[in-house]
Amino acid sequence: AAPVLAIRDLRVSFPTDDGVVHAVNGMDLTLARGETVGIVGESGSGKTVTTQALMGLLKDTSASVTGQILLDGQDLNALTEAQMRAYRGKKIAMIFQDPLSAMHPFYPVGVQIAEAYRVHNAVSKKAAAAIAVDMLGRVGIPDPRRRYAAYPHEFSGGMRQRAMIAMALVCEPELLIADEPTTALDVTVQAQILDLLNELQAETGTSVIMVTHDLGVVAEVCHQVVVMYGGMHVEQATVAELFHSPRHPYTRGLLASMPTLVGESERLEPIPGVPPSLLALPGGCLFADRCPEAHRVPDNACGTRPPTLVGPDEHPSRCHLETLPPAGEVVR
Ligand code: SF4
Repeated sequence: AAPVLAIRDLRVSFPTDDGVVHAVNGMDLTLARGETVGIVGESGSGKTVTTQALMGLLKDTSASVTGQILLDGQDLNALTEAQMRAYRGKKIAMIFQDPLSAMHPFYPVGVQIAEAYRVHNAVSKKAAAAIAVDMLGRVGIPDPRRRYAAYPHEFSGGMRQRAMIAMALVCEPELLIADEPTTALDVTVQAQILDLLNELQAETGTSVIMVTHDLGVVAEVCHQVVVMYGGMHVEQATVAELFHSPRHPYTRGLLASMPTLVGESERLEPIPGVPPSLLALPGGCLFADRCPEAHRVPDNACGTRPPTLVGPDEHPSRCHLETLPPAGEVVR
């Protein structure tokens, strides 16, 4: 089946007082209908800018966005801001870490969900209200008829997150982008929200991009994972493959720094060093300054030549180690 989403060589840069920031430097991604892909990386890896480009939020700004963002074959990057408005909320929707940023404080939650529906559907206020009440029920908000008229501040953090999910899904978008949706919640509520997303996805067949720095979240809800570093896609695999056989040294570092339920705190090994400056990209591998495996690659190639994505199609990695002969083989 044709993928719902295909991103081809996405690049985003924007001018600042200090120079041009190269925030996304070649991102490719293919997402099948009904699947969830995780985009994982530290802050500054380009995850959030990628989602802003997908939502068309960088149109009419000073940012330069090149490449293709094909949603059901339509290149969203080629649309004007006015054309994009027909897609945003209807075909592609987003949820964030902070639901209050997505909601108006002075309107009842249910009214906001009903209005989100009416933007894209010609129905009466009454019909939209009924749809909003139904949606509140579907996301697990108790007594949805009464809660329809409540204001955002009257909801708990977890309930607000559910309401934002209701607002994002009310038009049954093809693609839902979830940007750290559970980071601000306590662990129990976090698990409930992830369960809810899994349930709704099974029900609606919506494809999801889950942006997170938390590999635990990835393990919980994703089918595929893309690991980003320095605005680049450095590894992609199924969740099982990535956890069992990570190929890229950065991914191995992320996994080593991941708390486990049975782990002791001293087993955590944060990756030393800081991400590269996106103002002046180094000539070699962006991870070279922090990579514990660079010495395995001869001729200082890591410091001088940028690696490309290589390896099997279903599990590529952007690392020179992929092109070394197998250990023990003599190169003449
Ligand atoms: Fe490490 Fe070199 Fe691979 Fe970059 S190319 S991740 S520096 S081994």
